[in-house]
Amino acid sequence: MAEIQLRNVNKRWGDFVGVENFNLTIADEEFLVLLGPSGCGKTTTMRMIAGLEDVTEGEIAIDGRVINDLDPKDRDVAMVFQSYGLYPHMNVYDNIRFPLKVRKVDPATHDERVRRASAMVELDDFLHRKPAELSGGQRQRVALARAIVREPNVFLMDEPLSNLDAKLRVSTRAQIKNLSHELKVTTVYVTHDQIEAMTLADRVVVMKQGRVQQVGTPTEIYDNPANTFVASFIGSPAMNLMDGTIKDGTFEGKHVRIEGLQAADGAVTLGFRAEDASVTPAGQTGQITAPIYTVELLGDAVMLAVRAGGQLVSVKAPKDFRAEIGEEISFSVPTDICHIFDQSTGERV
Ligand code: ATP
Repeated sequence: MAEIQLRNVNKRWGDFVGVENFNLTIADEEFLVLLGPSGCGKTTTMRMIAGLEDVTEGEIAIDGRVINDLDPKDRDVAMVFQSYGLYPHMNVYDNIRFPLKVRKVDPATHDERVRRASAMVELDDFLHRKPAELSGGQRQRVALARAIVREPNVFLMDEPLSNLDAKLRVSTRAQIKNLSHELKVTTVYVTHDQIEAMTLADRVVVMKQGRVQQVGTPTEIYDNPANTFVASFIGSPAMNLMDGTIKDGTFEGKHVRIEGLQAADGAVTLGFRAEDASVTPAGQTGQITAPIYTVELLGDAVMLAVRAGGQLVSVKAPKDFRAEIGEEISFSVPTDICHIFDQSTGERV
């Protein structure tokens, strides 16, 4: 059992605000991902939960018990870092066993626990190797096993996949997801990679400059971004955003006009995703007509970038769509799928 509560948590170094008014309850067994660009305060938030960083103001509680003043070693949390943190002179077996020794766990149980943890990450055949004799992916699995072997209440993972190549990242990601499901341990996972966040998380916390922008399931965040920052951070390609004004249900931007919107008059940023736009059949005119800038064949679809109103707009077309750079195409966006944000605050309206 481990429910983590952050109540009005702030971190400041002098005048610099690292994390501001962070409020969140992380449910027992939840997989929570802290997502945001470099420097947004993700690692600092996680380090405060671990006890590696003091909380300037506010409270952190695990299962109702405030842990602000508790030593890291007494918090029952296990951390996995991007830099593995393995002991080079110890073999895999001893690296995995190390936390049990430090915590003076009954030695009679060590062997079984080490073997169980190493089997979970498929390292059974590597127990006698030294870290230098392992690949990056295998080293990261040793670091995972070392966290698993403790059977902690909480896993804290700081970009554990970022040193792995693209293919290994995908397979290790699947392994982490499977492990967290099997072990039912509350997990806080830090990443700047939105795909990692979307694929792993029960809920995602999107952060920017020390502040929480939105908390929600991956679907909520993708379908209903709270502001233009979240809208442009989640999804690949990023959501198309265009400035303009709405009057009597009609959006007018630079060379772009979309009618039939259910929205109040005002200066807005209108957003839509590439997959929500549909290319108009030849001979018909859509809401937006613009020249093609690039054509990317993705295999299952064709991604077009078009120059509309002085900016590039992404439009996803069916896999058999063919067109040349410079050719004009027309496309439409269903008005009920458009996202509308206040132009000055960036907040969804
Ligand atoms: P990254 O993805 O680059 O690791 P992050 O979101 O994890 O970024 P943090 O490491 O939490 O960011 O840092 C948040 C902000 O706090 C950054 O601007 C950083 O420079 C600042 N910061 C971190 N540690 C300190 C410190 N000890 N003293 C002063 N400022 C710090």
